[in-house]
Amino acid sequence: MPDTAIDLQAVLDDIVTELRPRFGEGQVATYIPALARVDAGHFGIALRTRAGAEYRAGEADRAFSIQSISKVFSLALALRLHGSDLWAGIGREPSGNPFNSLVQLETEQGVPRNPFINAGAILVADRLVSGCDDPRETLRAFVSSLCGETIAFDEEVAASEAATGFRNVALANFMKSFGRLENPVDTVLDLYFHQCALAMSCTQLARAMACLCADGRNPLDGSQVLTDRQARRINALMLTCGTYDAAGEFAFRIGLPCKSGVGGGIVATVPDELSLCVWSPGLDETGNSALGMAALEAFVSRTGLSVF
Ligand code: GLN
Repeated sequence: MPDTAIDLQAVLDDIVTELRPRFGEGQVATYIPALARVDAGHFGIALRTRAGAEYRAGEADRAFSIQSISKVFSLALALRLHGSDLWAGIGREPSGNPFNSLVQLETEQGVPRNPFINAGAILVADRLVSGCDDPRETLRAFVSSLCGETIAFDEEVAASEAATGFRNVALANFMKSFGRLENPVDTVLDLYFHQCALAMSCTQLARAMACLCADGRNPLDGSQVLTDRQARRINALMLTCGTYDAAGEFAFRIGLPCKSGVGGGIVATVPDELSLCVWSPGLDETGNSALGMAALEAFVSRTGLSVF
């Protein structure tokens, strides 16, 4: 457990105070038009301990586009539906490439390196389409149950991405050409674009990640979301692959399983102890929130929490 002598509220407040002069740093994602309109100056942070205490600072309750953070939820749901059979079509190695890169798919016969790059998440979406009658609704309800509140899709973001997601269309078609997708490309991408367009706050995301810090159980209702082993493995993948080609730098500087999204959110877990989420829409050149990374670095240096 976190050292009870640590005043976690004071830690979050200090992080906001320290970073305030830098609010607005980084560039918002412009390749998805609906995200390009978001003000880079937002900043929020929220944390939930395994015992259920919640702390928040800044704009922790303002909803934002979770984007690739949704890949944790879709992976969790696909593991529930398909168990380890899921791994037949997808790797577990860091890609060392940008999240939307096409290059490895050519040499690796359409098998994505891991479930957190776009190609991998599109393949996971394909398996959700295979396993659910109404995959969009099943995923939305699953995420809502994890945070105990009704979560909705931002249809404007989903439409914006569908209109401009040319690389994702290319990735899906490429995998289809290798016979890796079981369902029509359009159906799979409809789910993928919607999962990325889920709108959630830091508080909701910190809560929704709690099962990764509680042996796979949802602490809100006690239900077993994942097996303990599945939860630990998702943490392992977040550490090695959750922040794309910056995963090595994140492990070096922060040392926690993390998953980022181009909406500027980053979730992080301290396995068995707590989950947290920080949001600041300005991104660095790897597509990770610039101040989000700075905030997580400040958090681990103040608390000493790390998996290492
Ligand atoms: N929806 C975004 C995309 O497919 C997600 C990328 C991300 O958040 N890294 O490009």
